[in-house]
Amino acid sequence: MFSFIKKVFLRKHKTGADVDKLFNFMAMLTKQEQAVENYLYRYDRLHRKAQKHGDKVLIELYLSWEEFIVNNSAASGEKTSKEDIRKKISTQINIENLSQHFRLVFVEERVQLSYLYSILLIELAEYVHGNLGNKVLHNILREAGADTIFQNINITDGKVNLDSIHNLIKIHPAEYPANSIIQIYKAFISSFYNKIELSLGEEIVQGIFRKLYENFKNTYNTEFATLLLKITPEKVLGLNEWLSLLSKSELEKQVKEKTEELEDLNESLEARVRERTEELKKAYEELKELDKKKTEFISVAAHQIRTPVSGIKWIINMLLQEEVGSLSSDQKNFLQKAYTANERLLSIVNNLLDIDLINTDQAVYEFKEVDVFDLINKTIANLAAQANAKNIKIVWNKENKDTSNAGIIEADEKRFQSVLDNLIDNAIKYSSENDTVTIDTQRDEEDLTISIKDTGVGIPKDSETDIFKRFYRAPNAIRIHADGSGLGLFIAQNIIKRHNGIITFISDENKGSAFTISIPTTHTDEI
Ligand code: ADP
Repeated sequence: MFSFIKKVFLRKHKTGADVDKLFNFMAMLTKQEQAVENYLYRYDRLHRKAQKHGDKVLIELYLSWEEFIVNNSAASGEKTSKEDIRKKISTQINIENLSQHFRLVFVEERVQLSYLYSILLIELAEYVHGNLGNKVLHNILREAGADTIFQNINITDGKVNLDSIHNLIKIHPAEYPANSIIQIYKAFISSFYNKIELSLGEEIVQGIFRKLYENFKNTYNTEFATLLLKITPEKVLGLNEWLSLLSKSELEKQVKEKTEELEDLNESLEARVRERTEELKKAYEELKELDKKKTEFISVAAHQIRTPVSGIKWIINMLLQEEVGSLSSDQKNFLQKAYTANERLLSIVNNLLDIDLINTDQAVYEFKEVDVFDLINKTIANLAAQANAKNIKIVWNKENKDTSNAGIIEADEKRFQSVLDNLIDNAIKYSSENDTVTIDTQRDEEDLTISIKDTGVGIPKDSETDIFKRFYRAPNAIRIHADGSGLGLFIAQNIIKRHNGIITFISDENKGSAFTISIPTTHTDEI
């Protein structure tokens, strides 16, 4: 068994004993004789080639044989990896006795790199010696060998011997890790490149390098050829050539590494997203809880405030009516102011209570026929003092003014009145002195539409989406009236919704706003 390959090996190598050991070992690893026979038969052609081309074919043979052993060793009960085989062989036989090309297969990765790279270096040195002469070769080696390790290079007759370098690398693993071996060879190969380029020009030097790489690729499996790329000066090869030199296994390895990196990244991202989601969920729950507490607090406070504020209202009223004694006009004046301020306070408290009802969905509506035109008149009268103070005119364009029942709809009177109060109050509040507030009413068969237009500060574009949110106040409104509550429109919108109507607005900052309510004239509950 294995005899013909052994014969070839014996011819090529110095001691038969080592080759014997190598083959015995390989035989021991592959116990299936028939499979091995078949395998060797297939390589018969290579055998013949091997005699012609020597090392190159032997290496090819060895590498594919090695592959065969790895694939078949599981069947023999001892699973063996390529590394295992190489390690075992290198401890059992003296690989120094194998030819230089061949022995690189058996050494540990670091030394393997050194062997591999030295093959290229030696061929380059031969080329320089043959074409540029001994002196140039010596110069390159002297200049390039900046790293002390290269002082151990031995040259005789243009033949460079790097055995002592390999040995140094072998016995000093800590000093020469794979990376530093790549670095020092890379520098060396680069200076060869530069020197040859200087003497022969760029095209020729690139041609030489490419040829060396091609030879190398043809001699060894692409796994080794790929290792060579690491010391290749960047200018030698273009990207396509790099890719074509990369072995399939190296490409797969790189893709696998990148995939693993991505998977790791993905996993950590997913974990972070999960964490953040949990945090956000927790924060959201906390906020919800806080919001609930805040609403409860406002509700309790509003309830508690309402009774004394109502008490004050009636007391001031009694005083104003002079039920407990007559008042001077000054006293009356001041009391009137106190009454107005207290009314405001009461309306804020009522708003807060309304909000509570909206939030808890407990507001009870009483729908009945109401004349909205009366309500508008009432609002205008209520707000007359405010309008007069700013000399604002309120103009009402009634479209169906001749129809006596044009303003009649089914509504909750008190609540509808509060909507009108709020909208017309806003129109006055956010207008300048001497402006006009215009009310338009229109009725068709189904709906009544009321629009309240002013020429005041308007609503900034940025604020348009927030205007109906509770407590929201636009910055320009805050500047004019620091003490608004931002509750009026929120409540108004809720009330109009309960009437199955809609409230909309158009506005231009600094030009004015128009709020429009449209509600069905008869109320149905199921909408
Ligand atoms: P408040 O008037 O107490 O601030 P509202 O809920 O009634 O609260 O109004 C909310 C916000 O909408 C106001 O603060 C203001 O920014 C804007 N706004 C309402 N009506 C007008 C209007 N007619 N002109 C300009 N801005 C308005």
